[in-house]
Amino acid sequence: MTQPATAAHHDDGARPLTMFGPDFPFAYDDWVQHPDGLGSVPDEVRGTEVAIIGGGLSGLAAARELARIGLKPVVYEADRIGGRMRSERFEGYDDDIVAEMGAMRFPPSSTTLQHYLDEAGLRTEDFPNPLAEATPSTVVDLKGTAHYARTLDDLPQEYRDVARAWDATLADHADGTELQDAIRARDTARIRAVWSRLVETLDDQTFYGFLTASDHFRSFRHRELFGQVGFGTGGWDTDYPNSMLEILRVTCTAADDHHRGVVGGCDQLPIRLWETPFDGSGTSVRDLNGGAHRPAVTEIRRTVGPGGAPRYTLVDAAGETRTYPAAIFTGQAWMLLNTIDCDDDLLPIDHWTAVERTHYMGSSKVFVLVDRPFWLDPDPETGRDTMSMTLTDRMSRGTYLLDHGPDRPAVICLSYTWSDDSLKILPLDANARVELMLKSLGEIYPGVDIRSHIIATPKTVSWETERYFMGAFKANLPGHYRYQERLFTHFKQDELDPRHRGFFLAGDDISWTAGWAEGALQTALNAVWGVVHHLGGATPATNPGPGDVFDEIAPVRLGDERGTRA
Ligand SMILES: Cc1cc2nc3c(=O)[nH]c(=O)nc-3n(C[C@H](O)[C@H](O)[C@H](O)COP(=O)(O)OP(=O)(O)OC[C@H]3O[C@@H](n4cnc5c(N)ncnc54)[C@H](O)[C@@H]3O)c2cc1C
Repeated sequence: MTQPATAAHHDDGARPLTMFGPDFPFAYDDWVQHPDGLGSVPDEVRGTEVAIIGGGLSGLAAARELARIGLKPVVYEADRIGGRMRSERFEGYDDDIVAEMGAMRFPPSSTTLQHYLDEAGLRTEDFPNPLAEATPSTVVDLKGTAHYARTLDDLPQEYRDVARAWDATLADHADGTELQDAIRARDTARIRAVWSRLVETLDDQTFYGFLTASDHFRSFRHRELFGQVGFGTGGWDTDYPNSMLEILRVTCTAADDHHRGVVGGCDQLPIRLWETPFDGSGTSVRDLNGGAHRPAVTEIRRTVGPGGAPRYTLVDAAGETRTYPAAIFTGQAWMLLNTIDCDDDLLPIDHWTAVERTHYMGSSKVFVLVDRPFWLDPDPETGRDTMSMTLTDRMSRGTYLLDHGPDRPAVICLSYTWSDDSLKILPLDANARVELMLKSLGEIYPGVDIRSHIIATPKTVSWETERYFMGAFKANLPGHYRYQERLFTHFKQDELDPRHRGFFLAGDDISWTAGWAEGALQTALNAVWGVVHHLGGATPATNPGPGDVFDEIAPVRLGDERGTRA
């Protein structure tokens, strides 16, 4: 069902759960919607060029907001506008039929994202996740045994036991209910009290270690089943080595619930941020850039302007050199280590360490276009759907069926994998990947000839080998909290030496919730606040920004010794 973009999902009439904190509980959604705007700069600074490195969602949201404030964002993009919001179209078929190679499903709790989707006039629709209401049917296939289900209740008892074990584990060991209540109420003091305690106790713990420590998960079989079906989108066992805090950020903010897709492809959002007017003057960020973005940045030098003020001199792939009083970098941070030649002193040494320690998950997807949603044909013997959204421990892991109406071509994401499961297919080309996935699915659906329905060249990606990404999204390992705190708070530069001010890290991997567009936007807005203040501007008193209230809601800073705070 397609419906206009709406505010966050409400559970039983209670206030909605949103991606408000928990690390830095600032209301970005309210901030961007405030009629008084995000800030202003002195007249003499208006029109100043600010470099935006990366034309993905965060770079373009930052560019648009800076343009509204009267600055001139100069956008550099190495690959294509949209970044990891990459919707591929099939040549010869309608443009609204897409393969979402990166982001594809968005929780209503992403309320800042929703603001930009609304502003761009984009519509969303239910995304067919496992066992979701809008999903016609789901098959869970584990160890050679497949179960067909419309709801969790259709699965064998042990799956329900596992779901209950997870709920009980969160309630008993992660203050799940209290944290969600505090987030719903936007009670920053309570969020900080609970979350700081969890940070102190769980930063060193893996997801898997957290499960094994719970009495509710004494059973190895249950941990295996949970890894397969998990919660929300399923298939969470590839996250087992990651820090437990990463998982809690998802569960406590409902980031994995009630997902919606963007009708016609999520790349339309960054494209519209780039192409459509940002204010009543009818000017777009693209217009400010003379109709085209600059190519890849190849060098970043810290230079000096009048009065010793820091400047950033960028060289790009076309050989052009330009100098800026401020720059926002939104690519994955590893690009600063191996793709862009940076001054050693571009960042303080502790920030370089945090960049070096950043850990990314790999991810692969394999898509085919088929003639129609044949999976909805009822099986003559069983009356069941011919094929279903499928979770399996075979090579394909997650198969998603994307329907565009009974008489139109449809899309199958044959396989969506992360980490080791993505590595297993890394050297294979698109055709070999399709063959492998068809083999897996053929074992689950022996009578179904998927191949006969395929009508276009398959599309595939592995983000870990994409030149300008080198990974799908950051995933902190145990002990990484301190690094993340350093990177996220980089926009608040008053504690930095003056020579390090004016260069801002932003984007998905700087956020607390990498892999979710909402987090990428939050860091973009932090950088907007940082640039405005760096250039002598201010936020309206009626609409304080993330840096204005920073001291009251700053993320907990851990000390060197276990159990201490800095
Ligand atoms: C497989 C996958 C699945 C995902 N699923 C979801 C989902 O379901 N829901 C959700 O909310 N989010 C999801 N995400 C996360 C979402 O895609 C990101 O949060 C968001 O797109 C990040 O935007 P960004 O601008 O921070 O980074 P990017 O989109 O990566 O943009 C950074 C840009 O910088 C460019 N760049 C790099 N180096 C240079 C250089 N030297 N010079 C100039 N430009 C450079 C890159 O080409 C890129 O375009 C997913 C991501 C992936 C990869």
